[in-house]
Amino acid sequence: MDFSSSLVWGRTGAELSLPTLCADAECDHLIIGAGLAGLSAAYHILKKFGACRKVIVVDAHPLGSGASGRNSGMLGPGIGKQYHLLVKQYGDIKAREIFAHTLEALNYSTQLIRNEKLECDLVIGSQFKVSTNAANDRQLWLECEALTAAGFEIRTYDRQAIKGIVDSPVYLSALEYASTATVDPMKLVVSLAKEILAMGGEIYVNTCCARPQEHTVVANGHTLRFSRALLATNGFTPSLNRLRGRVIPISTSLMLSAPLLPSQRAQLGLQPNNAIIDVRRIFNYFRVTADNRLLFGGGSPFYSTENVLRRQRDGTQEAYKVYESLNGGMSKFLPQLANIRIEKVWSGTIGVTLDNFPVITRGQSSVDSMVGCCGHGLALSLAYGASYASWLEELSCSPELPWYRNSAPYLAPPALLPLASNSYIKFLRWADTFNGA
Ligand SMILES: Cc1cc2nc3c(=O)[nH]c(=O)nc-3n(C[C@H](O)[C@H](O)[C@H](O)COP(=O)(O)OP(=O)(O)OC[C@H]3O[C@@H](n4cnc5c(N)ncnc54)[C@H](O)[C@@H]3O)c2cc1C
Repeated sequence: MDFSSSLVWGRTGAELSLPTLCADAECDHLIIGAGLAGLSAAYHILKKFGACRKVIVVDAHPLGSGASGRNSGMLGPGIGKQYHLLVKQYGDIKAREIFAHTLEALNYSTQLIRNEKLECDLVIGSQFKVSTNAANDRQLWLECEALTAAGFEIRTYDRQAIKGIVDSPVYLSALEYASTATVDPMKLVVSLAKEILAMGGEIYVNTCCARPQEHTVVANGHTLRFSRALLATNGFTPSLNRLRGRVIPISTSLMLSAPLLPSQRAQLGLQPNNAIIDVRRIFNYFRVTADNRLLFGGGSPFYSTENVLRRQRDGTQEAYKVYESLNGGMSKFLPQLANIRIEKVWSGTIGVTLDNFPVITRGQSSVDSMVGCCGHGLALSLAYGASYASWLEELSCSPELPWYRNSAPYLAPPALLPLASNSYIKFLRWADTFNGA
């Protein structure tokens, strides 16, 4: 089993031979962070304005070292919390608007990948949200009722019917989001980077920015001047002394099996265009990859300390504990596959907020931001890049959505963050157990 967290998707950005910044530079748009959020913004700015705007993307590490090169590649709708809880908090109209926005982001992302022929093993299919016990089954049904009442097209499955989707002894019912997608996220990162370079954009890796000031930032000891900058540093944002205690760096993990044998595929029963996510607060999810492996994720998230971040970046070993936690989930939900060979285990860091909404700030200074997409950032990051470029052109107002904001709820001061975050995760796990998970 390979516990090293380098080369998780079997591909890196090294094939692009990207340079490191080694002189002062000026640009119209500086993008800090070359994950999918930053790359999508750069791509869309160049598409819209062409070579008349100079765009520079910088990343402190090699391409795809953040969450964008380490995630499970599942593009689906939804944000914040379950739909019926959104209705409870925001009312029918706003909840509908929030969810519709995420559906639009999903559709936009898949169209973008298709239309622009971004090579990333795109597969269109369905995401199934499954319940694992009586309490969360009730929540799932409330969610189904609320989504249906709001006019969203979803299908539901009872215990018997879900067996036709995936063979698990645990799942009680499911909700199907159709027209979702899966991708190889690292291929998507590389494809977007290639497009940016082809349109005349510049990408510098191993180029670490200090906290940006108005129209200027120091990176690797050089000064970068910009008209506007976009901070797309996700879970690493607190290291720039921004949103500390509000965007929390949390590690979440995945494991990848050896190619499945035909008999194992038959035992699993899952079609390669479908993905499963359970409805618990601390949940598991899985899908089959384009090369016929089981990708199984979730389990025990944990606070990303500097040591953890270094381990992820340097590709050094993940703790056996991570594997045990993922394997525990797999044994419970897919016991028939308990003996499959696991080849890789890795973790990545996401930016989490207490209300599970990102922080998108624009137009208040020369530094805009899009950070904290929690575990839902794929479709949103891609779509936000497009709306960011449109906003630059039209300078329109931000939509009235809860994540267009300067800040996020506060968890704890920096010294207490590891303890507070891990305690909060324990509390969520306890709440799942209390619900009979
Ligand atoms: C294991 C795992 C599974 C996931 N599964 C899914 C999924 O199935 N579906 C989904 O929608 N989302 C998923 N996510 C979340 C998704 O990956 C993220 O929301 C998304 O990739 C965020 O992209 P980003 O560009 O904002 O951040 P990142 O990809 O983290 O990019 C931020 C970049 O900023 C750079 N940076 C940081 N500090 C500096 C600095 N000072 N100077 C310059 N650069 C800097 C970092 O090196 C990094 O490359 C998952 C995440 C993980 C970890």
